[in-house]
Amino acid sequence: MCSIFYHTQNTFAEQIFATLGKGKFHAGQIYAHWMRKGTLDGLEVEPQAKSLVKEILSLTDFTLPDHKVVQNEDGTVKFLLQLDGRLECESVFIPMKSKSTLCISSQVGCKMGCAFCETGRMGLLRNLTAREIVAQVFVAVHLLEMKIDNIVFMGMGEPLDNFEEVVRAIDVLTDDAGLAFGPSRISVSTSGLVDKIDLLAKRVDPAINLAVSVNAPNDEVRCKIMPVNRKWDMAELKSAMERFCSHSRRQIFIEYVLLEGVNDSLECADQLAKYLEGLRVKVNLIPYNPQSKDRFAPPSQEVIDTFFTRMKEHGYLTFLRGTKGQKIMAACGQLGNLQLRKRLKLEQIGVSKEKKVFS
Ligand code: SF4
Repeated sequence: MCSIFYHTQNTFAEQIFATLGKGKFHAGQIYAHWMRKGTLDGLEVEPQAKSLVKEILSLTDFTLPDHKVVQNEDGTVKFLLQLDGRLECESVFIPMKSKSTLCISSQVGCKMGCAFCETGRMGLLRNLTAREIVAQVFVAVHLLEMKIDNIVFMGMGEPLDNFEEVVRAIDVLTDDAGLAFGPSRISVSTSGLVDKIDLLAKRVDPAINLAVSVNAPNDEVRCKIMPVNRKWDMAELKSAMERFCSHSRRQIFIEYVLLEGVNDSLECADQLAKYLEGLRVKVNLIPYNPQSKDRFAPPSQEVIDTFFTRMKEHGYLTFLRGTKGQKIMAACGQLGNLQLRKRLKLEQIGVSKEKKVFS
C-alpha cells in the first residue's frame, strides 16, 4: 500500500506506475482531487477507466491518524494526532488578526534539552515520518476546516534533527498539484544545528523561511540554557545564518525567549543587537510562558517593553509575540504533552528514549 500523504503528485504517480505498469495519469488525477478537496466525492472518471481507477484506489492508503481537539477560548486550537505505539503528536492553530498560523511538530519529544522547554523535558521518543507531518496539515485543512496562511515547524521537536522526513514533507506541502502551500508561507525553526542549516539551504526552495532560536546574548548564557551551543557556538551559528541568507531572498527570524534575570537586561539587548549586526533578520521576542514548578519566570511587562524598545532603537524590525494558547500548553516551548509524559512513566511501554545529545 502506498500512503498518499507521503507523496507528491509525481512520486505517487511513479509509484503506481512501478506497480501496475500503467495508470500515471489517473493516479495524478486521484492525488490532486484528494489533496485539494479532502474527499474522493466528485472525482470524475471516464467509464473506460473505472477498473483502472479501482485498482489504483486499492493500492492507495488514505488513512489518517485519529485526532482529538482541545479548544482554547482565545481561538487557539491544539489538536493531537494519535500515532502508533500510543504516542501522540501535537499541532496548534493560532488565528491572528490578519493571518493565521499552523504550528506543526516534527518529532515526538526532542533531544536538544533546552532548559526552558517543555518538549525538551520529554527527551526524544521518535521522529515523525513525512506522512505524519503532512497529516497534521491535511487534518487541519480538510477535517477541522482551518484556513491556514502560514505553516511553522515550531511544534514538538527539532525539525533539522529529522532532516530527511521534514524536507520530504515540505516537498509534499508545497506541491502545486496538491496542498499547494507557497514556500514563502513555510518556516523551519532550529535551535542551531549548523551543519543542517547549510544542508537546508541546498535542499529546499530559497523562499522557505528559516527561524533560529537564539535566546541568548552570548555564549556563556546560551551554553547554560541551550546545550546545542556547546557543539556549535554563536560565532559558528552566525556564519551559518550568513551562508543561509546568501542562498535565500528571505530574512531570518530570530526567536528570543525572554527569561527573567537570565537574558532580559538592557546589556543583553545591546549584546544581541551587536551579535546580529550584518544579518538580514526580524527579531521575535517571546516572553517566557511559565510552567508549574518552574525554575524560570517571565520578565515584568516593564522589562519586556524596555528590551523591545532597545532592539528597535538598534534598528531591528522587532515583534513582541503574544502568548496565545497558554492555558492549553500550546504557547512557544509548551508543547510538552504532560498527559503523554505521565502515561509513559506509568505504563513504561518500552519506548526507548534517546539521551539528550549535548548535556
Ligand atoms: S526549544 Fe526546540 S530544540 Fe529546544 S528542546 Fe524545545 S523543541 Fe527541542
